[in-house]
Amino acid sequence: MERRKEDNYFYQLGKLRRRPLVIAGPCSAESRDQVLDTARQLKALNVDLFRAGVWKPRSKPGSFEGVGTEGMKWLQEVRQELGMPVATEVARPHHIDIALKHNIDVLWIGARTTVNPFAVQELADALRGTNIPVMVKNPVNPDLALWAGAIERLWAAGLPDVAAIHRGFSSYEVSEYRNVPLWQIPIQLKGQYPFLPIIVDPSHIGGKPDLIFPIAQKALDLDFEGLMIETHPNPAEALSDADQQITPARLGEILDKLQVRSVPDLAFITRTEDLRQKIDRADREIVEALARRMRIVEQIGEDKRQNNIAVLQPERWKSIFETRKQWAKQMNVNPDFAAQLYELIHLESIRVQTEIVQQQVTDAKPQLKLPF
Ligand code: PEP
Ligand code: MN
Repeated sequence: MERRKEDNYFYQLGKLRRRPLVIAGPCSAESRDQVLDTARQLKALNVDLFRAGVWKPRSKPGSFEGVGTEGMKWLQEVRQELGMPVATEVARPHHIDIALKHNIDVLWIGARTTVNPFAVQELADALRGTNIPVMVKNPVNPDLALWAGAIERLWAAGLPDVAAIHRGFSSYEVSEYRNVPLWQIPIQLKGQYPFLPIIVDPSHIGGKPDLIFPIAQKALDLDFEGLMIETHPNPAEALSDADQQITPARLGEILDKLQVRSVPDLAFITRTEDLRQKIDRADREIVEALARRMRIVEQIGEDKRQNNIAVLQPERWKSIFETRKQWAKQMNVNPDFAAQLYELIHLESIRVQTEIVQQQVTDAKPQLKLPF
């Protein structure tokens, strides 16, 4: 089946307002008042989809694990009173049964569930035959195939409206983020499935209010389809993720400040088309130069093999590295970028020469010297 971005529920939900899709709501539904108060304020901001977790996957037992089924009634009230679609997280097939019984509009699979293909398959099987829209958060670990695999399981179960949520990846490295964004991973996902809407969750990536705006702006600059931002009427008192939730008023300020990049017009397309052709030619020259360089590297490798010389010649390498950085600087190219590029070129040259030099071991006829 051919999939088109324009047919996707999430794409349409955002496009109706001619801006990226905005999903907001508390990390957890805590009480009827908190849910309805938040939803009313978000409705006034034209938020497209209301989120609230009722089954919360917590790292440690004993912390607030969500209000469970009771929260469904509050979400139903949001739908009925405000006409806003509502979304919640499901992690077990029986969560799906309960959510469907309560007419929840959209479901999402959390980061701790996406890591487990058995769990995802069980959810996909429970969803088969429905056509409820489902969002799939990336797994907590930076594994593109695991994320793509979870999405494919839902497609294979016949679900037409699937979206991905980028919520960052856990890391032991010290970082300003709660979950490092590693933007190349969602960008690669987009490359694999250009029709798949990707929603960015600055709350779980940043982990603090001050990072929400810059992450959200970056998401729009990269042309992702939407944002999911946690909001609470009184973040300091929130029962989960108190450090990262913001008030609806602050969300309003952030949304006003965000710059939405415009859809390119014909003149822009024509101009860039011209420039892109120049880029294509420049890239071809780069690849041709690389090929020329590699053939020379091979010749030297052959010479090293015949004369039994070591592949790595650190002095020579040091001078290459320095001169190339110098050239880059003179030609207005970032020298650190040139350094990184030459790091790669050097590694490849060593790989190629090592292969050539090692042929000696296999090709050369063993010279058996007897000790007597
Ligand atoms: C959430 O959205 O509140 C949540 C639990 O997120 P994640 O699965 O990304 O940790
Ligand atoms: Mn949360």
